[in-house]
Order: sequence, then structure tokens, then C-alpha cells
Amino acid sequence: MQKEKLAILGSGPAGLTVALYTARANLDPLVISGNQLGGQVSITYEVENYPGFPQGTTGPEMVELMQKQAEKFGARVLIDEVTEVGLKHGPPFRVKTHGDEFEAEAVVICTGASPRRLGVPGEEALIGRGVSFCATCDGFFFRGKEVVVVGGGDSALEEGLFLTRFANRVRVVHRRDELRAGETLKKRASGNQKMSFIWDTVVEEIQGDGKVEAVRLRNLKSGQEERMATDGVFIYIGHYPNSEIFRGQLAMDERGYVITDKQMMTSVPGVFAAGEIQDPVYRQVTTSVGQGAAAGMMVERWLEARE
Ligand code: NAP
Repeated sequence: MQKEKLAILGSGPAGLTVALYTARANLDPLVISGNQLGGQVSITYEVENYPGFPQGTTGPEMVELMQKQAEKFGARVLIDEVTEVGLKHGPPFRVKTHGDEFEAEAVVICTGASPRRLGVPGEEALIGRGVSFCATCDGFFFRGKEVVVVGGGDSALEEGLFLTRFANRVRVVHRRDELRAGETLKKRASGNQKMSFIWDTVVEEIQGDGKVEAVRLRNLKSGQEERMATDGVFIYIGHYPNSEIFRGQLAMDERGYVITDKQMMTSVPGVFAAGEIQDPVYRQVTTSVGQGAAAGMMVERWLEARE
């Protein structure tokens, strides 16, 4: 069993900021990456709203720089996934990964959130065969093709706009007749020749033999159903927190978001949380970084007070 002062679970903007702050405080933090080094932003093509980057930047570039900065001060990043934790009887807290087992005096949870699924027939079987949750990863495969984007929020429009670089046609299927997305994206989407909207409509089924061929749509107002041919389905209908392994050990809200106090501490003293695992509202790189900085400062104070 490897002994650590501080284990940071997750390597998105929140986790890497905790790492930066605590490394600079000489806590020698260990970051356990999770299954996606850099978290959700690492698969976001463009980031336009992070202060200090007037020309914008890309998600992968941002993550690379954040990791470099944390490592420069001594943070270590382990590429592995946490499979089990023992938080109730700590400190020390137990953290198990696929390859190792650790005992940490303090833990900061930054495991973030994952895209929600539609839960319709065909979705699961056709993931990676035309069904995708990541335009940045898969957009290229749809050069010259037609795709459907599901959702009406910022993600649906932002990723839909990105897809217009490749696809000939991007049809956004939204369950209402009003978008949830902000004005800037709405304006850009309505001005894009390749993009169009199908209102008051849900996807009932994704069809295809080995790859996506069509979606079955239902208009919620008229009840009318239609089969529409498409090459791909990109789903952006929100997220759920990656908190399953902490269930029963930490206080959570009804949706599974970890509850923290103003010091970013969870219901277990010595266990902190930052970023989307505890924030269903703001969900920005900027806010995750801010929460990571706060958690980094608070865990440092907590460890110091114990000594
Ligand atoms: P979101 O704002 O929660 O939007 C989810 C969309 O999916 C909504 O339009 C919702 O419809 C729809 N939806 C939910 N469940 C559905 C279902 N079962 N079937 C069909 N449609 C369904 O999620 P998001 O777009 O991922 O954004 C999350 C947060 O990140 C927001 O705060 C957003 O502002 C932020 N964000 C910001 C940027 C940016 O600033 N550039 C980019 C991406 C995300 P209803 O509208 O009817 O509820």
C-alpha cells in the first residue's frame, strides 16, 4: 500500500488546478487521471470563454498546459482509474485503482460528469458506429455526410456548429420550440447555411444494421412519427455526475452530485470536492478552475491544522 499525503481523483481543469495549488504548497500531490486525461474539456475543440485567451484556444492545448504547469511544481499524474474508495473510516483514506492501492491523508474528488444518454432502442448498440457524444473526436468521420444533433443547449449548438465543418447537413432535433442555448450561439447557428432545426420533436429510435442509417422521430405536438435517414447521431442532452463509487460514503443530492460546504469539504472531514462532481449549475472551465483553487487552498489548511 503506497502512502500519499494528498490524492486528487480526476484530471480535468478542477483536478489540475488543485494539483497546481497543492504542489506549490509542497504537498506533493498525486493526481489519478481517470479514464479521460484532462476530462471533458480535453475533447472540446474550441474554448472561447476562458479569460486571457482573446483568440480562443483548444481543449487539448489547455489541458496540456495545465498539466505541465502543475508538474513543474512537483505534482505527479498517474494514468489510471479509481475503482474503489474507503472514505468512511479515514483518514487515512483508501483509494484503489486498476493497478495500485493508496492510503492518503486527504482526498480531493474532481471526477466530473459524463454525457447523458437518450435511453432509446439502437443507441447503445450503435455507439461508435454513428452514435457519438463527441463531435471533436468523431466529426471527421462525417465529411460530406448528414448528421442529427439531439438537444437544445449550448453543447448541442456549439458541437453542431463544429460538425458543419465536415458534414453537409446538420439537423438539430429539439424537444421544445425554444432553445436553451445562449444568444451568441443561437445567432451563429441560425446564420449557418448547413444547420437547420426540427422543433418539438424527440428521437424514439436509432436504426441501422452495423452503422447508423436512420432515426425514428416523433413530433410531441402532433404525435406524428417519421423515419429520417441520417449517417450519424450526436447526443447533447446534459450530464450526470461520476459519483457512483462514492455512493453511501458521502452526502449527495438526489441527482448524485456530491454536496460540499463553503470550504469545498464534503460530509467527510478531509475529503474535498471541486468541479462538476459538485456543481450541476455553472459547469464552465473557469468555474471548475476557481473551485479547484478553493479546494486546493482548503485542503492545504486542513492538512496543516492536523499537523
Ligand atoms: P443543458 O444546458 O442541460 O441542455 C440540455 C439540452 O438537452 C436541453 O435543451 C434539454 O431540453 C435537452 N434534453 C434533456 N434531456 C433530454 C431528453 N431526454 N431528450 C431530448 N432532449 C433532452 O446541457 P448542455 O448543453 O450540455 O450545457 C450544460 C452547461 O454547460 C450549461 O450551463 C451550458 O451553458 C454550459 N456550456 C457552455 C458552453 C459555452 O459557454 N460555450 C458550451 C457548452 C456547455 P430542454 O431545453 O427542453 O430542457
